[in-house]
Amino acid sequence: MQQYSKRIPGSRFLHAPGPTRIPDEVLDAMHRQSIDLADPRLDDLIKDCEAGMQAVVGTERGEVYLYSANGHGAWEVAIANVLAEGDAVLIPSTGHFSEGWAIQTEALDRRVVRTPWKPGFPIDPNEVEDVLRADKTGDIKAVFAVQTDTSTGITSDIAAIRQAIDAAKHPALYVVDVVSSLAAAPFAMDAMGVNLVVGGSQKGLMLPPGMGFVVVDERAHQASLDNPSPKFYWDWTKRTGSHAYRKFCGTPPLQMLMGLRAAIDLLQQEGLDQVFARHRRLAGAVFKAIEAWSSAGAIDFFCQVPSARSVSVTAVTVQGFDPEAIRTIAREKFQVAMAGGLGPMAGKVFRIGHLGDMNEPTILGALAGIEAAMLSMGIAIGRDALPRAIDFLID
Ligand SMILES: *Cc1c(COP(=O)(O)O)cnc(C)c1O
Repeated sequence: MQQYSKRIPGSRFLHAPGPTRIPDEVLDAMHRQSIDLADPRLDDLIKDCEAGMQAVVGTERGEVYLYSANGHGAWEVAIANVLAEGDAVLIPSTGHFSEGWAIQTEALDRRVVRTPWKPGFPIDPNEVEDVLRADKTGDIKAVFAVQTDTSTGITSDIAAIRQAIDAAKHPALYVVDVVSSLAAAPFAMDAMGVNLVVGGSQKGLMLPPGMGFVVVDERAHQASLDNPSPKFYWDWTKRTGSHAYRKFCGTPPLQMLMGLRAAIDLLQQEGLDQVFARHRRLAGAVFKAIEAWSSAGAIDFFCQVPSARSVSVTAVTVQGFDPEAIRTIAREKFQVAMAGGLGPMAGKVFRIGHLGDMNEPTILGALAGIEAAMLSMGIAIGRDALPRAIDFLID
C-alpha cells in the first residue's frame, strides 16, 4: 500500500454521497478532551444538540434520540420501536436503500409489503394510496419511505405521500429516512406530517460516520410503548429524561456531540433556506454538465424525471465502459473521489455526491476532474459541460 501513502499536494475532493467532507469547524470542535459524565457542560451539550436537531428537521415537539450507530442502526431503531414481530409495514420501493431497510425489517421477523421498483422513477403516491386502501383490516402498521434513495439519486415527494396516507384514511405511522437528504433537500417533519424521522451523521450533517438519530412524535412514541416485542438498546422509551448515561444507554459519544453542535451552528449561521438553495444551485450546475456530456450518447442520467433529481447525489449511467474504471482514474489521477453503483446498479453507474460542505469551486473542480477522467478513457462526451455549468452558476 506504499503507493497510497504518498503526500498529494493540494486538496483531494470527496464527492461520495457519504461520508461527505467534514468542515474544519467540525473537526476542530471534535478535537477536544473527554469530560466526566457528571460535568454540567455535558448536559448543555446534549440540550444544544437536541434543540438544534429539532430545528434542522423542522419540529416543535418531536423528541430527538441520538444513537452511537450508523444509518442501519437508525433503521433498526424504527423497526424495533414501531413494529412488533409479525406486524406488516409498507416500504415503497426506491432502490437499494428501500430494499436494504426491507431486508433488515424481514430479518427481524416483521412483514414487508413492497410496491414494485420502477427504475428511474420516484415513489408514486397513488400506489401507496392503493395499497393502503386495500388494507381494510389495518394490517399495515407503518409506511417506511426513503426521501432520497442515494443509490439512484432520486428524491420522492414526502408531502404527497402523507396526502396519500390521509386520502386512504389509513392509520399507518409515517416514517421517513432522511439519511442523505437532511440539510440538503427541503424537509419539515411537522409541516409534512411525519411521525418518525430516521437519519445519520455522515451525509448532509457533515459529521464523521458513527451517529444515528431519530425524531419521534407522540403517536410514534405511543406505538413504542404499546409494542410487546423485546427491545433494549434501540428502545427510545428507555432514553427519556435528562440523565445523560441513560439517554444514550451508556456512555454518550462525546466528541460526536461536540461535532454535531458545531455542524448545527454552521447550518444555522448560513440559514436552512440558504443551505437548501445552495444545494439546489450546485446540483443545477452538475445537471447542466451531465446534460452536456450526455449529448454524445455514452452517458446519461439514471433519473427519468428531471423534477425528481436529487440535490444530494446524481447517478450517471455509462454505456460500454466500466464505471469503476472511471472512478479509479478520477480518484487516483484527478483527485476526485466518487461513488459506484449499489445492488442492481453495480457496474452500471457512477454517482457524483454534491451535498454537504461544498461551494462553486468545489463543484466546478469536481466536474473538471470527472470530465478529464472520462476523456482520458476515450469516452464520447459533449465538450461544453464546464461552460454550461459556469453559465448556470453565473445566472
Ligand atoms: C447511507 C444511507 C443509509 C445507511 O447509512 P449507513 O450509515 O451507511 O448505515 C440509509 N439510508 C440512506 C438513504 C442512505 O443514504
